[in-house]
Amino acid sequence: HMPTAELQALDSAHHMHPFTNGDELAAKGARVITRAKGVYLTDSEGVEILDGMAGLWCVNIGYGRDELAEVAARQMRELPYYNTFFQTTHVPAIALASKIAELAPGDLNHVFFAAGGSEANDTNIRMVRTYWDAKGKPDKKIIISRKNAYHGSSMGSASLGGMAGMHAQGGMPIPDIHHINQPDWWAEGGDMTPEAFGLARAQELEAAIQDLGEDRVAAFIAEPVQGAGGVIVAPDSYWPEIQRICDKYEILLIADEVITGFGRTGNWFGCQTLNIRPDIMTIAKGLSSGYQPVGGSVVSDEVAKTLGGVEFNHGYTYSGHPVAAAVALENLRILEEEGIVDRVRAETAPYLAEKWHSLGDHPLVGETRIVGMMASLALTPDKASRAKFASDPGTVGYICRERCFANNLIMRHVGDRMVISPPLVITKAEIDTLIDRARRALDECHAQLRE
Ligand code: PLP
Repeated sequence: HMPTAELQALDSAHHMHPFTNGDELAAKGARVITRAKGVYLTDSEGVEILDGMAGLWCVNIGYGRDELAEVAARQMRELPYYNTFFQTTHVPAIALASKIAELAPGDLNHVFFAAGGSEANDTNIRMVRTYWDAKGKPDKKIIISRKNAYHGSSMGSASLGGMAGMHAQGGMPIPDIHHINQPDWWAEGGDMTPEAFGLARAQELEAAIQDLGEDRVAAFIAEPVQGAGGVIVAPDSYWPEIQRICDKYEILLIADEVITGFGRTGNWFGCQTLNIRPDIMTIAKGLSSGYQPVGGSVVSDEVAKTLGGVEFNHGYTYSGHPVAAAVALENLRILEEEGIVDRVRAETAPYLAEKWHSLGDHPLVGETRIVGMMASLALTPDKASRAKFASDPGTVGYICRERCFANNLIMRHVGDRMVISPPLVITKAEIDTLIDRARRALDECHAQLRE
């Protein structure tokens, strides 16, 4: 390929990057990733980088699995494209939907496909409203979500999301979306115990339903563990209370499993780890380990039965794309047959947890949080008081991310919180390398702050 500088110049001349300040990037030049294998990326200069984020929380089986490439090539030759609109179907969509139904908990037996999580969450907005219409309750339209949540970038899914910086660009949220607070005890719990705080935050849902009117609220959507919001693990009291409230007021519970699905928390789905009974799950990312763009809404027998008699005027050209479906199915085969989810639960997640918590002795680290293979560190100038830095939120996190990058480790920052979500196939030796590099980056960040 071309020399790195030329690639960077073309990149900044013609390529608009998501969630990136273009001028800042042009001044620096993007790091060009050319290959990947296992948990390592290789850049255009031949440097290996440990991908502590599995891309965007998605490459669960790791990079470079030839089986998926072979399945894709075979499927492209046989049936590269067809849709499932207007009473047609095809084998990959049938096989993938059946496999998802087998893996999904409870009676979540029906899949509406999309090309990713944003599209699937848009489907959910329309689907729950159509569901309540079909039930003769057309006033039930409001969907309650949480501040700081990320549910996608389309107008609908970004409205479900609770990121103020996103809402400010382009006129969101759309009508009838309401946000309550997230259960982030460390940042917002003050003097309350985690249990009392978790309960109080869950009860905000009940207060919102009473305030908005239970006959107007259609659904509550949440990630079992908020990912892009900073790997926010709710106190134990939170989810049982949320489940009670959804049951009591007949509110559909949508678990956005785009990150937490397919082994990330040590079970197939985050709702199994957290004992939640959703009516709908959003899936994407780990469904294909990111090898193909595919996602969907997995819905209960009751939701599917109710929608059965309705022509749902909704669908995407790439809903159930045969190549994406075939690749996703092969990905699920590998996750299952190689026992990857079981190994995460029994071996590598406990090992990562031990090492991750050991970073808690670092002077910059206030809290270490981990569930399965997703974890975060809260950076603070003072652990005892859980203080925030005097600088704008995210300033220190950004420095720390840069130091990770310089140490050939991809870690992400969410404000002043560092997060990881490595491929589920990461070995114990690779976890040691990740922790060493993270500690070095924290030391360098600490030194930089004292300059
Ligand atoms: N939901 C959650 C929880 C996510 O983390 C994401 C993406 O990061 C999405 C939805 C959107 O998925 P996509 O980027 O595939 O549209």
